[in-house]
Amino acid sequence: MDKIVALCKRRGFIYPGSEIYGGITGFWDYGPLGVELKNNIKKEWWKSMVYQRDDVVGVDAAIIMNPEVWKASGHVDAFTDQLVECTVCHRRFRVDNEKEMAAHKAEEIKKTGAHFPPWTEPRQFNLLVKAYLGVLEGKQSEVYLRGEITQGAFVNFKNVVDSTRIKIPFGIAQIGKAFRNEITPGNFTFRSREFEQMELEFFVEAHEKEAERWFTKWKAERMRWYVSLGMDEKKLRFRKHGDTELAHYAKAAEDIEYEAPFGWSEFEGVHNRGDWDLSRHKLNYKDEETGKEFTPWVIETSGGVDRSTLFFLIDSYFEDEKRVVLKLHPKLAPYKVAVFPLLANKPELVEKAKKIYKDLSKHFVTVFDGRGNIGKRYFAQDEIGTPFCITVDFETLENDTVTIRIRDTMKQKRIKIDEILSYVQKKIS
Ligand code: ATP
Repeated sequence: MDKIVALCKRRGFIYPGSEIYGGITGFWDYGPLGVELKNNIKKEWWKSMVYQRDDVVGVDAAIIMNPEVWKASGHVDAFTDQLVECTVCHRRFRVDNEKEMAAHKAEEIKKTGAHFPPWTEPRQFNLLVKAYLGVLEGKQSEVYLRGEITQGAFVNFKNVVDSTRIKIPFGIAQIGKAFRNEITPGNFTFRSREFEQMELEFFVEAHEKEAERWFTKWKAERMRWYVSLGMDEKKLRFRKHGDTELAHYAKAAEDIEYEAPFGWSEFEGVHNRGDWDLSRHKLNYKDEETGKEFTPWVIETSGGVDRSTLFFLIDSYFEDEKRVVLKLHPKLAPYKVAVFPLLANKPELVEKAKKIYKDLSKHFVTVFDGRGNIGKRYFAQDEIGTPFCITVDFETLENDTVTIRIRDTMKQKRIKIDEILSYVQKKIS
């Protein structure tokens, strides 16, 4: 983990939030490469969940909603974690985080001798983040930053049905920020207080069997998506929630977990929310053909953009005595191609390389690098996952060919300049 965190900072993937003011716990900023990687993940998700299906449409709802939404959804009463407090140092812990509690207890025993004062009784702690709007302080102007993006899909259910005439079964997809007053942010971006979610709310007939059928389908589809983008299947698994663990809205839930350096950890949940949300918002669906009116059930796939980004980074990290490489899927890599002149002090090579760089930039994110020697440039591109490096040398000036070097195999071959585009496009499509 230390290596990943250091690489993220050094190469511009992820920085601590507000760092020049000492940072702020639970907030992170994405740098020039991080924003590309995160955008690529979101783009691929949108492509597979919206563009490549005819039963899903997208929305982008506001972060701040009428507070009544959060009362109806159950979040004001039930969006809580249980916390205990250490009576020595007053640090707070989530009761379900036994590992951290045990480590803290051992630390305190070491510091204070044999006696360890008990934890306080568990208390419910609401995770919604409050904000105030307008000039009046107090209850009247109190609003919440959304704790999940989900409700934005439900409050627009009727608008979407009326404006698109889409028919059940169908889904509403959304990507956006969510905020939680997490008790113990940590493990880098894994548990943050501001994060992004990518979610599908899929509405089905109000039958147990139909909901189960879609639940199984969506589970398989979401797992397939991560594997298709190169995540190691052996590090992925489903974990079913026990009855006592289920969220207040869920009839059934399974997490997709990744084997992170800090243990198996959830980064997407597939939930059967039954008719909880639509009935709480008093929303129905009318089948125009049969005239039947009912409250649809909802199957949800709720993925974390930041946790996916982190796990794609961890999963692609590879090192040996020679180099560090991020073996990111070319679709996710921040830069697709790097272009170098063999020698930076030969204007004819630089000019040619710049022209190739400019032409390729019209099609995908390309970078030009003329610093240091070729070996160092390859090393620098490997470390950020650039799948292809193009070098312009003296032979280029004679016959318009360049070398293309493949990140994962380190093999090089010569190709014609006018073949680069289709070569790279084929590899990233
Ligand atoms: P956890 O048990 O880890 O707190 P959760 O079960 O509360 O997570 P959900 O409410 O199901 O999480 O949210 C769906 C997804 O949103 C999670 O799988 C995760 O990827 C992401 N997510 C939730 N909380 C956070 C957070 N604090 N920081 C980053 N991502 C988060």
